[in-house]
Amino acid sequence: MSWTGAPLHDVRRVLGAAANRALDLALPASCAGCGQEGDALCRECRTALDIRVGAEPGVPVGLPADIPAPLLQLEWCAPFTGVTRRALHALKYDGERRLAPLMGAAVARRWARAGAAGDALVAVPASPDRVRDRGYDQATLIAGEAARRLGLPVIDALERTRATTAQFDLDRSARASNLVAAFRVRDAVPETLLRDRWLVLVDDVVTTGATLAACAAALLQAGALAVSAIAVARER
Ligand SMILES: [Zn+2]
Repeated sequence: MSWTGAPLHDVRRVLGAAANRALDLALPASCAGCGQEGDALCRECRTALDIRVGAEPGVPVGLPADIPAPLLQLEWCAPFTGVTRRALHALKYDGERRLAPLMGAAVARRWARAGAAGDALVAVPASPDRVRDRGYDQATLIAGEAARRLGLPVIDALERTRATTAQFDLDRSARASNLVAAFRVRDAVPETLLRDRWLVLVDDVVTTGATLAACAAALLQAGALAVSAIAVARER
């Protein structure tokens, strides 16, 4: 494989985490939003991640209350459009992990304004195959940064039991039960860590909320008191 000929994400895929970090340092970033050289997201484009930071918490007037049970609250930083959409794509598919701290910071700012309560953050885990390909789990990186800024612990509580692909040929109820089966609390997590705690799920993008609801169900089954969620972006 030639370094100059192969797409960067292909090069990154065959490198380990340490080599990818070295590559980050070697390559100048360009803005995922506008392409300008310098930062992974330039100062101007960063504002897209905070577009809802001052919005009223909860459901905007005129929209249906579409928070899937058993989630108590669902928040997000920005709509899944424009700069935010391109930045999330770069984080997930182009190996641009330098975007994760910026997104974690935006999550922290939104949650500090809109979050009703929460004792600890829990990332929605990507499938092990994807983490292996990418070298990192983007929601885990985002949650870690958000937790640090909020002064909350982050609990590595969940794992995927299997890849949730081929969702498209399942009907709605089959899809929901497929997802419920797809997450469980890790064996290594002590029960006392989750019991009676209000947990806040962190993910990159929320669409229907079914993934978050499935994670919440697993955490409640393990004894959590309540589960809320926040995503970087919401797709409608
Ligand atoms: Zn930009």
